[in-house]
Amino acid sequence: MSIALFPGSFDPLTKGHLDIIQRASQLFDHVVVGVGHNTSKQALFTPEEKVDLISTVVADLPNVDVTIMHGLTVQFMSEIGAKFIVRGLRNSKDFEYERDIAGVNSALADVETILLLAKPENQNISSSMVKEIGSMGADNMAKFVPKVVVDALKERLN
Ligand code: ADP
Repeated sequence: MSIALFPGSFDPLTKGHLDIIQRASQLFDHVVVGVGHNTSKQALFTPEEKVDLISTVVADLPNVDVTIMHGLTVQFMSEIGAKFIVRGLRNSKDFEYERDIAGVNSALADVETILLLAKPENQNISSSMVKEIGSMGADNMAKFVPKVVVDALKERLN
């Protein structure tokens, strides 16, 4: 059985992340969305809140699970039996970053990184941009994040 891990901060989940999850769910038997703690980024939602939000959004995808990740990515993958890491690429900056991380991970363990290109309409969506327009009171966050995330953002930012 092919198991893939899609790790990320998801602070919050955007339509760009969701597209990657949906496409990965068609490529692999099982996909685990791993919510990590990115210490260099100030988080708006706790890992538990993110798991709840993402689980609601992916409820219609039977082969997708959402969980909090701990430890090194490759150690966590070994615990859940995942051989594939899925990441999304929006631009050349993402590519440079992902290539370096993929190199480290493949040196550490027998894992394969699969990079999925962002759809053109999602290329400019980032969690930080969504937080920024949300805090400016913009009501068109729905273009960039699923409805439940819009509601959670409104509540958190008010
Ligand atoms: P991290 O802090 O691990 O980069 P993010 O939540 O920012 O976590 O991103 C997780 C993954 O999703 C990364 O591979 C990132 O490139 C990808 N990603 C982020 N935004 C988009 C988007 N709009 N379209 C496609 N992939 C995206």
